[in-house]
Amino acid sequence: MASGALAIRGGWVVDPASGTNGQADLLIRDGVVAAVGDIGPLGSARTIDAAGLVVTPGLIDVHVHLREPGLAHKETIETGTAAAAAGGFTTVFCMPNTVPTLDSPEAIRQLRTEIDRRACVRVRPIAAITKSRRGMEAVDFQALASEGVVGFSDDGDSTADSSIMRAALEAGRQLGLPVMVHCEDKDLANGSMHEGEVSFDLGLAGIPAEAEEIVIARDLALARLTGGWLHLCHVSTGQGAKMVRQAKGEGLRVSAEVMPHHLTMTDGWVAGKRSLVNVDEPAGPAAEVADPNTKVNPPLRPEADTRALLGALKDGTFDLVATDHAPHAAVEKEGVPFAQAAFGMSGSEFALPLMLALVRAGHLTLTDLVRLMSAEPATLWNLPQGRLTPGAPADVVLFDPDERWTPTKGGLRTKSANTPLLGMELRGRVRMSFVGGEERFRA
Ligand SMILES: [Zn+2]
Repeated sequence: MASGALAIRGGWVVDPASGTNGQADLLIRDGVVAAVGDIGPLGSARTIDAAGLVVTPGLIDVHVHLREPGLAHKETIETGTAAAAAGGFTTVFCMPNTVPTLDSPEAIRQLRTEIDRRACVRVRPIAAITKSRRGMEAVDFQALASEGVVGFSDDGDSTADSSIMRAALEAGRQLGLPVMVHCEDKDLANGSMHEGEVSFDLGLAGIPAEAEEIVIARDLALARLTGGWLHLCHVSTGQGAKMVRQAKGEGLRVSAEVMPHHLTMTDGWVAGKRSLVNVDEPAGPAAEVADPNTKVNPPLRPEADTRALLGALKDGTFDLVATDHAPHAAVEKEGVPFAQAAFGMSGSEFALPLMLALVRAGHLTLTDLVRLMSAEPATLWNLPQGRLTPGAPADVVLFDPDERWTPTKGGLRTKSANTPLLGMELRGRVRMSFVGGEERFRA
């Protein structure tokens, strides 16, 4: 028996890659999966009793904001990756809207040095599309690809210049990398929440759904023109999902993500509602109206959009679920008027419970959940993770799908507790996370 062997026994293993969905043992040796099934007696292996727990490949989040370099008052590599591990994520892709922007090989190399020293899960950087994300001048796509970035994105803003977007998609096609787009027409999107009945009632300036849809339409046209890989970040409108469905039907190289908060929360939350939609969970205690923690970009939409997004998740229009984990310091949210507060929600520690609520409501199976949150992102980006087959990296998460817990400001791993879910009872909690067979989180 090699030293360092680890046996995870008696859990319910869900692994779409191998079609496993049942009780099985998992043997890890030398950082990789050695065997799955009935592994028999093992003398010296460390053993974890996983009875009553679900055992899956570590989740993969292709959209997080770790806020370093430069914005460590919001989040750090330590706290952001600890939050990821606590949420069951063992690989995250980090967005380049940092200070300085991740727009040069030097910036990527410096970040990678910090990641190697300080991250507790795997982190893969995304590079910007334009220098300083100003939308004026394209980055050196090839030089950045040589540094191992997993895509290009000006997330937080759309790249308004269509000729730069065309160049990015053409470069991405040659480099085998996606252009990951935040679709928002800034001139049209000068409000702070979804434009509709609720924004009119509250007297808040709105962001119409069309601000997203106009840019999705343009970017799909450019994907058609170039043959490049377009990855649509956080699609939030029913019409947007419809356009993605049509583009896929046409054979365009498009992938798309949807966020748990856009599937389960509506713009009614800005008016103080605290009941999740599309699921059967108890409502939370009443909240203040215009709580800045409900301010997010793209904004929470009406219930009809949440239903359309869920339909698109179920019919395969969406490839995956990511979080858009967007931590902000208390001074950027608490006591700040809604219109002036920062956009963004903390996501890493809440994605799994929200997705498990959709499983309990019968919309998805556990296998679907693992496919959307691990296997599919691994397949799209050609990562060796996202599976529990022999030889795969032993990135594993153990969670209790029914454990009830209530997020509190002091009880989270993220540095910033900007979520409207504080004080609401959630179900489903990660118990342990492993990266390459090493324990990185234990509840
Ligand atoms: Zn974005």
